[in-house]
Amino acid sequence: MNVSADCLFCRIARGEIPSRKVHEDAEVLAFHDIHPAAPVHFLMIPKSHVDSLLTSGSEHEAVLGKMVALAPRLAQEQGCGNGFRLVINNGPDGGQEVNHLHIHIMGGPRPWKRM
Ligand code: AMP
Ligand code: ZN
Repeated sequence: MNVSADCLFCRIARGEIPSRKVHEDAEVLAFHDIHPAAPVHFLMIPKSHVDSLLTSGSEHEAVLGKMVALAPRLAQEQGCGNGFRLVINNGPDGGQEVNHLHIHIMGGPRPWKRM
């Protein structure tokens, strides 16, 4: 497991910083976003640190596939049976602020931002 001592999301994954958990298993953690941009907004991270898709490689295919496959179940459990959106921001020009790869999972009744 690749971990970073001072990475915010590594610290959340280690339980050093509290989070409102949606799901946890050996490889993945999902928790509510502290500043929700939609009625339902939670984040999913691999527990093993990787900065973003810019620095991910074939060794991450399994966990990335698992995360995308897990998203619809968690989204529906959080009340997004009518649909949801996945967003991954990558790097400065991609609007990424926390440099530990994460999927935003957003849903709930509109209106919220079109893309
Ligand atoms: P991004 O801009 O894609 O890097 O998104 C980072 C997200 O992390 C933002 O939506 C923040 O609101 C969220 N965030 C920052 N700190 C925390 C925290 N301690 N717990 C939960 N979400 C957080
Ligand atoms: Zn990290």
